[in-house]
Amino acid sequence: MNRRYDTDDERNFTRDLLIGLGESSVRKSYYPELQRRIVELEKTQASLIESEKRYRQAVEVSSDAIWDWDICQNIWYISNEWVKKFKLLPEKHDEKSSQVIGEDLRKIWSMRIHPDDLAHHQQLLNDHLAGISDVYEVEYRFLIPPERWIWILAKGKVIFDNHGKPVRMIGSYSDITTRKNQEERIRHMAYHDTLTDLPNRASLYEKMVDFLNEKNTDDHSGAIFLINIDNFKFVNDSLGYSCGDNLLIAIAQRLTGILPSKGELARIGGDEFAILLTHFDSKQVDTFAHRILKLFTKPIFACGHQIFISSSIGIEVFTTDASVEKILSNANTALHSAKTTGKKTWKLFKNEMQEAVVLRMQMENELRQALALEQFVVYYQPQIDILSGKIIGLEALIRWSHPTKGLIPPLSFIPLVEETGMIVPLGEWVMRSACRFGNSLRKIQQKKIRIAINVSAKQLMQEDFLQRVRRILWEENYPPELMELEITETILMESLETNVIKLKELRNFGIRISLDDFGTGYSSLTYLSRLPIDVLKIDKSFLQEVRVTSKGTVIIGTIIQLAHQMDMTVVAEGVETWEQLQLMRDLECDFIQGFLISRPLPVDQILEVYHKNHGVFLIESAVDPT
Ligand code: C2E
Ligand code: CA
Ligand code: CA
Repeated sequence: MNRRYDTDDERNFTRDLLIGLGESSVRKSYYPELQRRIVELEKTQASLIESEKRYRQAVEVSSDAIWDWDICQNIWYISNEWVKKFKLLPEKHDEKSSQVIGEDLRKIWSMRIHPDDLAHHQQLLNDHLAGISDVYEVEYRFLIPPERWIWILAKGKVIFDNHGKPVRMIGSYSDITTRKNQEERIRHMAYHDTLTDLPNRASLYEKMVDFLNEKNTDDHSGAIFLINIDNFKFVNDSLGYSCGDNLLIAIAQRLTGILPSKGELARIGGDEFAILLTHFDSKQVDTFAHRILKLFTKPIFACGHQIFISSSIGIEVFTTDASVEKILSNANTALHSAKTTGKKTWKLFKNEMQEAVVLRMQMENELRQALALEQFVVYYQPQIDILSGKIIGLEALIRWSHPTKGLIPPLSFIPLVEETGMIVPLGEWVMRSACRFGNSLRKIQQKKIRIAINVSAKQLMQEDFLQRVRRILWEENYPPELMELEITETILMESLETNVIKLKELRNFGIRISLDDFGTGYSSLTYLSRLPIDVLKIDKSFLQEVRVTSKGTVIIGTIIQLAHQMDMTVVAEGVETWEQLQLMRDLECDFIQGFLISRPLPVDQILEVYHKNHGVFLIESAVDPT
């Protein structure tokens, strides 16, 4: 084997031997020793050859490529098998020569390392050869001609001579492409949305952090556009989730189409996308926002349907001294403001919006307290039979009896109560109160008075809504046929099929269903026949129309006739004048409700009304309140 690895002892012996052989006087005394040493050397050599053979065999069968670099003579050895696998030499080369051109082979190897990884590899190798690192270990991309890139894990350890000079280095190359690809896939999954393959919220967050950390740029401003699809739930509910998914993919593609070079698009929630524009000129806000809104003016074709959608956009323009949390929260506030001002629009964040958010939060807290302290009261508004004047029902209408602000009307707090989900317990409370009041009325009057209760979307959406209603009726011992549930068209349409099933179940249980605010929503008479409805409540805005145009009168008359054909009872809401009452009577409307008869009243005053007239409203004596 190589002389360089001889021990000092052996080196001295060889020197002595050479000198000794030249001098016959000492030849004799050296001879036995010489014999012994030769035998020993032969043994050592045989065992070295044997171990070298075993080493080569191990190298040949190893699943990793083992390489051996003789640094002094600059010979690099790697087995032929791996030369072939890595295609280090042209296919027709002479196999025997590959070891001879070992150094060239090492150069070829280096040339195949990806240019972006080369410097790193070289640095680590130099560090190791200089004794700075314990082992040499690096991962890099490697080209297998003509164009296959694999990942290599290179490891090695250098052997130094007594003077600390690197003399040999042995190491291995492993093909770690599979592992790297898996890692990449996992990384991709962690930072991308599986449906659209767009970057996700985590990815957007990191990109924003990176941009905010870019200290040495002159242009520090950026903008974030939060894009939320209006009424997306409606698509999911009416056309199914897979159609909703297809729509989202199509939206992602449209948004990608308008992305500038310095922009990042991410899907950060179910129907919410974000566009981050770095180095952004704030004068461009308007133009870019319009470009987004315009994307949705044409319908999107998904799963056989032409779908018309719109979007709301919340925008925050920022400089790099802001924090990611603050930027996103401001953009979100702006988005909320865009949503509440009628959707299909964009809003740039302003500090006043923040104030509105604070006020909302205060009110939310107060409402939670109000719920716990039972600061709510239910008022009742009579509905009368238009011919007899008899009170046939009452609509329960909630008010908030605020400790300092007095009586607050429902429209000032119901939207927030609905948004926060508090409507579920509050709605149940109203229902329970109404049952109790209805029971006490039954005792006094011994007459069947139906109570109508308003139901919001969130309540109806609950899977166990029917069970909840039944439990209240059972616990309060209230007859279901004296309960009427008022549902608006908009609520019904939000998830038509499931709602229709629920309403049918409620109806089978004996509860009456009333369609509230008819004429303000979809107003399609054709679908009315498909809905499980007992009562149609014509909205008060319709009634105002009637007063001014005869065309309105014709329409309302048609509605009443149609409803009657479908076995529905018609209630006209918001009857304020004698003239309106008269007209409703002419058009054969069944019941009326409005300020002309009575405003909504607290329990004791309603009782008074009953006591006074025995539950009969003297129509002919009606005084026009206007
Ligand atoms: P709604 O269900 O349409 O209730 C009728 C509204 O019209 C009531 O307003 C009532 O006071 C008002 N009104 C009645 N007659 C007349 C009239 O002749 N002229 C005019 N201009 N208005 C009349 P209110 O009590 O302020 O309630 C407003 C809305 O709040 C209700 O509209 C209903 O949507 C909601 N609401 C009230 N109570 C509840 C409740 O317990 N649960 C739910 N989810 N919503 C409720
Ligand atoms: Ca109502
Ligand atoms: Ca109504």
